[in-house]
Amino acid sequence: MPKNLDVLISGGSVAGLALAYWLRHHGFNPTVVERAPAPRPGGYKIDIRGAALGVVERMGILDEIRRESTDMLGSSLVDGEGRRLATMDADLFGGREGDDVEIMRGDLARILHGRITEGVEYIFDDSITAITEHADGADVAFERSAPRTFDLVIGADGLHSNVRSLVFGDESRFIRDLGYHISIFTTPNHLGLDRWELMHPAPGKSAGMYSTRQDAQAKAMFIFASGALDHDHRDVARQKKILAETFAGGAWEVSRLLDSMWDAPDFYFDSISQIHMDRWSSGRTALVGDAGYGPSPASGQGTSLALVGAYVLAGELAAAAGDHRTAFARYEEEMRDFVTQNQKLAQTNIKGMVVTSKAQIWVQTRMLRLLPHLPASWSDRVIGRITETIRKAATAITLKDYRS
Ligand SMILES: Cc1cc2nc3c(=O)[nH]c(=O)nc-3n(C[C@H](O)[C@H](O)[C@H](O)COP(=O)(O)OP(=O)(O)OC[C@H]3O[C@@H](n4cnc5c(N)ncnc54)[C@H](O)[C@@H]3O)c2cc1C
Repeated sequence: MPKNLDVLISGGSVAGLALAYWLRHHGFNPTVVERAPAPRPGGYKIDIRGAALGVVERMGILDEIRRESTDMLGSSLVDGEGRRLATMDADLFGGREGDDVEIMRGDLARILHGRITEGVEYIFDDSITAITEHADGADVAFERSAPRTFDLVIGADGLHSNVRSLVFGDESRFIRDLGYHISIFTTPNHLGLDRWELMHPAPGKSAGMYSTRQDAQAKAMFIFASGALDHDHRDVARQKKILAETFAGGAWEVSRLLDSMWDAPDFYFDSISQIHMDRWSSGRTALVGDAGYGPSPASGQGTSLALVGAYVLAGELAAAAGDHRTAFARYEEEMRDFVTQNQKLAQTNIKGMVVTSKAQIWVQTRMLRLLPHLPASWSDRVIGRITETIRKAATAITLKDYRS
């Protein structure tokens, strides 16, 4: 007879929803507490690669995810006047024909949500304030709801995980700031972009804009080298001020994009950071996704780690008949090397995302311009080297078959 059936999951995004699905599948009773008042739409584009494709296939949602993919056609680097300096077709990197899928985060969350048809309780607009563990379970207090007792508590609440702070200690012990900040928000598609991305690089910073379909809306994106910046991750007014000051006087469409920032419904701003922890569980609590091992947006692998982590954690709990000590230890064993390899990707990627000098921008632009004109064997070798590193990390785990 399995034990520890009642599981509270903090966070109802990629990791939390995937975990709820798999726990339900294995006969557990998951409850999801999410701080947002409703499932969050929108968001930015994210990738599903390698082993994570196997997870969504086993969930029966791979075809739907492919249908809803961004279908991006390519991207261009532009100068201060908007002239295209170098253009990269998505097909050049195997983008549209390869196995990997790119989808907007909100679309993925909606599909995950739709796959969970019954047996999962949701508590929106709430957050855990205390977790007190005892021999028979964990007593949980909430900001709004009445206190309840669960068998297990899982933190799937992202980079600034509340559960991690409550159980493992202050965030500063685990967060590794890579020295950059990123901001992204919805903006009018005044350039009429259709599945295209434009990036305007300047020394130490880069501004961009993309639209995934011929949308009235696009996304504005800013990345800059920042060192460690002092701001609270919930102080949006201060974050907007920092962004406006950092990009003040910027060429291309920068001032127009910044003007639209003040009314953006979904302004996102954060450091590009990773989470490094020696262990992802303590007693009856465990962490999954960005909360335990966020690899940062620069790795492009956060979503895949979250999906695989949820699958493995739920599977190990089922395989151990709910014995959390055994399951949490096996979850860690299965995931550790996979996480390490994917976190490593970010350090290399970030250097290409923000170049530091005009000379580097010149070199990068020339190389990208040259690439489509190289003999196929050369360009295949250059592109193959980049894609192979990502492929290796994305497939650095063999999924067990936990399905009952
Ligand atoms: C700008 C940007 C670009 C990115 N690009 C990519 C990419 O190209 N490819 C890729 O794979 N990944 C990318 N990522 C990373 C990816 O979004 C994350 O790795 C992924 O969403 C992790 O999922 P998660 O469920 O662990 O965390 P999150 O998606 O962060 O979800 C955490 C959830 O917990 C909720 N929550 C937070 N605090 C509480 C609380 N106290 N109580 C209850 N709920 C709470 C939040 O509202 C949220 O719903 C990007 C991230 C950003 C920010």
